[in-house]
Amino acid sequence: MDMDLSSMSSTARRLPDDPLERRLDEIQGLLREPLIPDDADLSSAATLSNLALVLADRVERGHRQLIATSVQLTSLREVAHRLLSVRSADRAAETIALYLHKAFDHSRVAVLLFDREPMVLRGTAIRRAGLGFFQAQITLPIPGATGAVTTSFASGEARLIESPTEAGLYQGEGDLASAFDMENLGSIVLAPLKAAHLFASPVGAGSGRQNLDQVPGPADGRTTVLGLIMVGRCGRETPLTSDDLSQIESVATTLSTVVENGRLYQDLRQGEMFRDDLLNSMGSGLVAINLARRAISMNQTAVGLTGWEMEDVLGDIPPFLPLADRGMEAAIRGASYGKPVLGKEVVLSKKDGTFFVASVSTSPLRNEDGEIYGVIATFQDLTVFKEMEERIRHLDRLAALGRFTAAIAHEIRNPLAGISAGVEYLTRGMDRSGPEGDNIGFIQKEIQRLNQIIEDLFRVTHPRPLMTAPERPELILERSLRSLGDMATARQIEVIRILPESVPAVPADADQIQQVTINLIKNAIEAMEPGGTLTLRTGTRPGRPGEEPWITMTVSDTGTGMSPEVRKRLFEPFFTKKASGTGLGLYICHGIVERHGGLLRIDSVEGEGSSFTVELPRTPVSNGGAQ
Ligand code: ADP
Ligand code: MG
Repeated sequence: MDMDLSSMSSTARRLPDDPLERRLDEIQGLLREPLIPDDADLSSAATLSNLALVLADRVERGHRQLIATSVQLTSLREVAHRLLSVRSADRAAETIALYLHKAFDHSRVAVLLFDREPMVLRGTAIRRAGLGFFQAQITLPIPGATGAVTTSFASGEARLIESPTEAGLYQGEGDLASAFDMENLGSIVLAPLKAAHLFASPVGAGSGRQNLDQVPGPADGRTTVLGLIMVGRCGRETPLTSDDLSQIESVATTLSTVVENGRLYQDLRQGEMFRDDLLNSMGSGLVAINLARRAISMNQTAVGLTGWEMEDVLGDIPPFLPLADRGMEAAIRGASYGKPVLGKEVVLSKKDGTFFVASVSTSPLRNEDGEIYGVIATFQDLTVFKEMEERIRHLDRLAALGRFTAAIAHEIRNPLAGISAGVEYLTRGMDRSGPEGDNIGFIQKEIQRLNQIIEDLFRVTHPRPLMTAPERPELILERSLRSLGDMATARQIEVIRILPESVPAVPADADQIQQVTINLIKNAIEAMEPGGTLTLRTGTRPGRPGEEPWITMTVSDTGTGMSPEVRKRLFEPFFTKKASGTGLGLYICHGIVERHGGLLRIDSVEGEGSSFTVELPRTPVSNGGAQ
């Protein structure tokens, strides 16, 4: 608002007591030019009517100015808001240029922002054209350029240039003339956009704060001119005055803050997004807690591993960390005292109530001053490793057991042969019908059983090479059943056969495969009470890609079925639930089927029955030999 203090003293009225005179004096103090001449006669009607006209004119002008200012302010707020969402410097420059053109009605406007890489002033120029406007992108390289634009940018000083020339304004690799209509340019104001504060550290390569690189700064990397506003008028318009200069300068000051804040906000957002990307791209789960153990950050991997959503966890003590676990507690306490802990194995709980073994590492969370204000815990799911470890341990155990039993079997075989021969010798010519004969028979049966076990063991540890020939699967099953004698009928087991002739022959070592099916049928019968049903079935199943269908032989029973515990240990040597069992049957079966390149599949429902299926490929296996 215009104000001229000097005019206050210039008034001296003849009728100071007159209320009109007093008000006029007061108003005069706010105005630049006098409303009426000092010596005007206020009692004359002509003077009064003239005064009324002048005042009405003033009121109207004031009112218009008020509207304009309020429009400018409103749109400035809008510009500030828009700049926050603007991603590129180019868009920011365009937004401001449009604002200056529309809200202030300047006929020629350019807003240029400094780009450090590659040292140019770049932005948008707008000039009135008919009822609309003409808009262009301009880029003015700074190195090697001369003229008022570069000096004003470098010095940070605003200036008014009356009747500018193209050479006087900018001489360099860029082009200002076409965008600005230099030929018709009458006057111009250059007003630098300056950052409100100096950045503490020079922004640049190696400073580690790459984001700030996007804040333009002049060549020395320290001064803080963000860019330049240019406002011009063509020769036909009233030339720009020093009043316009100060107005444009103050607008530039306001806009500088807006631009700077917009930039800083963008940098912050980018920094945040980068941080989130970084955290969420980690293969490990991560949770950061403060010293009160409340979660302050968590990554997506942790969400995936634990099933807890971030909203559930942030602000609370992470529900999946076993703080009651002494090892975990120590790991967190250690980190909060500055001592990181690596690879602690603990059990973490999931949201669904299940658990998993994880390797947790903790490290202190420090602020800029190095003070610890929290702890970062990263963790990996060890379940897969645990399972693998368990399997390897299991196989190791089996192998060790195999070697051990082979050694024992070897040691027992010879003495057993001796005992057998001894008993034979002692009882030669003895009457075997009496009770002694029973005892001898018992001894011989037990010797036979021991022999069988040892033979079985040898079959495992010294498997015979496979001698394969095409075999019909239904015949294998039939022969196996027959070799068990009347076992099924004695136990009142019904036998159902589903043996379609369409099932082709399969290359197999008949003796050995029969061993398998005999074992399976024997187990099935043993699992059933009288009245049960044994089903023998042959069939096919799809082979692997490019392979002929496989042959299947299934032995099903309506017996006890198996608990998960039994299923898990089924193939262990010596695992048996039977009083007179050896626990070697399935162990041997597994080895034989494996050497045929086949699979042994089990379906079992506890209390309802089990199905064992031998699956054999039709492509003969090449390594039909020993393990
Ligand atoms: P064994 O028959 O000497 O016990 P196996 O290796 O043949 O040894 O079988 C191991 C164990 O597996 C059996 O003791 C039994 O508990 C279980 N099992 C095997 N087949 C069946 C079946 N058809 N139904 C239920 N349990 C079975
Ligand atoms: Mg058995």
